[in-house]
Amino acid sequence: MPDPTAPLIPLSLTHLPTVGGLAVPWITPRAGDGRYLFGAIDAGRKDQALVGLLCGVCGRHLDERLVLLMRLSDLPRQCTAEPALHPSCLAYTACACPMIQGNLDHYRTVPHKLDPTMIPAADEAARCGAPAEPWFAVWLDGYTVITDHGTRAASYAGSRPRRIRPLIWGPLFSG
Ligand SMILES: [Zn+2]
Repeated sequence: MPDPTAPLIPLSLTHLPTVGGLAVPWITPRAGDGRYLFGAIDAGRKDQALVGLLCGVCGRHLDERLVLLMRLSDLPRQCTAEPALHPSCLAYTACACPMIQGNLDHYRTVPHKLDPTMIPAADEAARCGAPAEPWFAVWLDGYTVITDHGTRAASYAGSRPRRIRPLIWGPLFSG
């Protein structure tokens, strides 16, 4: 049943499946019973996106401008295991997040049961609910794939971000 309050899905995301009128991010794993596990990440697609410069939301190739979501505590290390996003895809995700819209219970009443190919999203708190620590959108021209704590990660060490903005509710990406 589509949610009439769901934000309009931009043309760039109409290829994605929808649940309740919301586009399901490309990186979201699907359980054996067909449910999409919002807030979790398909490990294979994560690596595919990091290495292939794909967007975690739409699954398409990133443009010259991309955004990484970073926790405050991750900023000094200048890397994250989360795939980068198109700025427009991040903006949609921020306003479409069911938790931000107050509909969390509609999606998740019990914790996810993840299989080994699925991992919790590092930015789940930023996308869905009051973050325990500040999150930032790091705008970049590109990144380097490194191995960090045994997992692939996107690093911008040695390059200068275009800008770093705190991720807050409201008009996130006006510029
Ligand atoms: Zn995208």
